[in-house]
Amino acid sequence: MNDYNGFETLMVHSGYEADVATKSVAPPIYPTNAYVFDNTEYAADLFSLKKGGNIYTRLQNPSADILEGKITALDGGFSALAFSSGHAAMFNTIVNLCSEGDEFVASSNIYGGAINMYGISLKRLGITCKFVDPDDFDAWENAITDKTRLFFTELIGNPHANIADIEKISDIAHNYAIPLVVDSTFNTPYLCKPIEFGADIVIHSATKYLSGHGQVMAGLVVDSGNFNYKNNERFPLFNNPDPSYHGLVFADLGKAAFISRLRALIMRDLGSCPSPFNAYLTTMGMQTLSLRMERHSKNALAVAEFLENHPKVEKVNCPMLKSSKYYDLAQKYLPKGTSGVFTFELKGGRQAGAKFMDNLKLLQIVANVGDLRSQVIHPASTTHSQLSSEQLNASGISENTVRLSIGIETIDDIIADIEQALK
Ligand SMILES: *Cc1c(COP(=O)(O)O)cnc(C)c1O
Repeated sequence: MNDYNGFETLMVHSGYEADVATKSVAPPIYPTNAYVFDNTEYAADLFSLKKGGNIYTRLQNPSADILEGKITALDGGFSALAFSSGHAAMFNTIVNLCSEGDEFVASSNIYGGAINMYGISLKRLGITCKFVDPDDFDAWENAITDKTRLFFTELIGNPHANIADIEKISDIAHNYAIPLVVDSTFNTPYLCKPIEFGADIVIHSATKYLSGHGQVMAGLVVDSGNFNYKNNERFPLFNNPDPSYHGLVFADLGKAAFISRLRALIMRDLGSCPSPFNAYLTTMGMQTLSLRMERHSKNALAVAEFLENHPKVEKVNCPMLKSSKYYDLAQKYLPKGTSGVFTFELKGGRQAGAKFMDNLKLLQIVANVGDLRSQVIHPASTTHSQLSSEQLNASGISENTVRLSIGIETIDDIIADIEQALK
């Protein structure tokens, strides 16, 4: 754009310049499914990837393109691809790197939906996920075999907001020529850019803070361009000529290899593209990302401090508190805050938790996080209810765990509501 590259400047301006046809200040929505080809030769060049350009909205769309440009700028990546949901972004990333018989290693402290996808649905396709305690570096290393294709972790784990030491985990991965994929849904690039700490691929559920207003399902994959697939024995998928592109070797595309294959093969075949309207809404949300993340984090810290001093509360798991075992890691990776999400444990078990939630008037009971509105849920009976008791233990979720996603409302009102509900 120009020499002005501060985060907030990129947040407002990157990805879009006043469109030449209309001079529209705000990014337009392009609700179109296809594009006019000037002539047949031009069309043929697009189809054979000789030229870049719009063919069909399953593969690319100008509204998605603006969003992809913005997240690439904010995360400091090389390129990005937008999806219909965070889960689609995750599934498509895994199958871009793995085929039947392959393995990957993932943190056990992650979103319950990810544990199901990785542990059960991918297994049915012949892809095996080994779950490890993210704090146990030997466990990461010991899980590696010749078939390992990637490491996966959330930087801020859902629901407990445990912090993964991604610099160490990326060192282990890179020693074995394995890429590290980091789910950045809770941190967003404003609180931390994992690529600066060795992540090769960053995934966002843009459903949460990036879109930010509780309206959208969307996912994003950002590639750093730093991982070398060429001649890496773990990646025949990138090094063998591809029969559906006349023998193209994707690794030969260098920094563009990962996203090109993700778009041209995986998106082409699986079709999890975002709607132009959702891409547009996500771009709108991202223009105010820093303001919201500051307020979410500040409000969450105030609530965590209030709860920590409350006699009915057994434990608060918030990495912004000095009492958290993740405090030092949070200071290292997330000095501006750790978002609005954390958990706490009420004295009195599941019943006390249910009573507390039913008494809330401002905070809503919702199976989501990252909304402007303050929201609460009981993971053991909802978001993580499909997990076995063993898996619940591994994610540190108990019957009396309550997850909060603190919004941007007036902090006195949020605390007053929690206080009266506890009473
Ligand atoms: C919600 C969530 C997802 C899944 O994203 P969807 O947009 O709901 O498909 C993945 N990772 C984390 C950390 C999440 O919170």
